[in-house]
Amino acid sequence: MNKISSIEPFLLVDKLRVPFHFSQFEYSERKICIVKITLEDGIIGWGEGYGPGLLVKAGIEQLAPLLIGRDALQHENLWQDMYRMAYDYARKGIFLSALSAIDIALWDIKGKLLNQPVSILLGGRKREKIKMYATGMYFTNGGDMPQKLASEALSYKKRGFSAVKMKVGQGLDIDVANVAAVRKAIGDDTQLMIDANHAYDLKEARQLIRRLTDYHIFWFEEPLKNEDYEGYAELRRNSDILIVGGECEYLKYGAHEMMSKRCVDIFQPDTGACGGISEVKNMMAIAKVHHTNLTPHTWGTGIAIAANLHLMSNLDTVPHRMNMPEPLMELDCSPNGLREELLVKNFELNNGYIDVPTSAGLGIELNEEKIEQHLLKP
Ligand code: MG
Repeated sequence: MNKISSIEPFLLVDKLRVPFHFSQFEYSERKICIVKITLEDGIIGWGEGYGPGLLVKAGIEQLAPLLIGRDALQHENLWQDMYRMAYDYARKGIFLSALSAIDIALWDIKGKLLNQPVSILLGGRKREKIKMYATGMYFTNGGDMPQKLASEALSYKKRGFSAVKMKVGQGLDIDVANVAAVRKAIGDDTQLMIDANHAYDLKEARQLIRRLTDYHIFWFEEPLKNEDYEGYAELRRNSDILIVGGECEYLKYGAHEMMSKRCVDIFQPDTGACGGISEVKNMMAIAKVHHTNLTPHTWGTGIAIAANLHLMSNLDTVPHRMNMPEPLMELDCSPNGLREELLVKNFELNNGYIDVPTSAGLGIELNEEKIEQHLLKP
């Protein structure tokens, strides 16, 4: 038996030199909880939860006693037991981020025990490298915002990205000015997506789409509040721009709700919150039933990036045809030392692509000295 001997959460922090904001609030630091699971024979797995790190850490501490001493390869049974513990209190939200972090670490361990990359264990690798898009263009105080965003967008293009995503949700006039500046800077050969982080209502979202017609927006992410399923469906039905979202949705039930109501063209669960790699795999099946595409949301460290690279490698897109466009994976480029420093060897961007790891498990190695350096000390 591959007995779990310890489950240790690490709450990490990176103070930002320059705070930034988006449509909802400001960040002055990045705080992320990662987890290390160790087996009796010394094999280690790493996972990461998405959302307020302090609460993810508490959740992991709550779940850990349930798993200590049990067989890591009984993975689905462990998942079900964690879910039963969450069920009465937390069928959505941060406790599921704790579950997700543990699930990701269990996949890492399973891969190491079976000496296979996670993507193979998921069923196989459809692609060896994943096309990335840059997420950035948050807002900072002072200066000429359209100009700042335009030069940031151009810097991503110069790094090799052929798709970039910018924030909107500041009010329609401001958004239009920002998008116009960015589109002008990057030209027409780069895909441009916008993300409102659920800042608008249906009428505002419709108006924004109309006012951005000339700027060839590829997708509009989280235009509305997540619970406005009817609004999403109506917006999607009447828009040529892809309507996408789902990073605030949890478990297969949330995925079913959003996709069965035809809310989005691409569903975007966060692997570190929605139930882990196991649940995203389930959501992939649900997406097919509803003729919807799926691509995970990514806003964390190299652990989350690795988890999503394996999922993207295994992902089957719809509809089927020989020259289907490649699915795009998110690469957060906003300031975050935790993303840059925790891996012994960071992921490299080559012509806008990142290679899917080929070694066992998630295929990453963590720098424990850096973990110690970023540990939030009481
Ligand atoms: Mg988003």
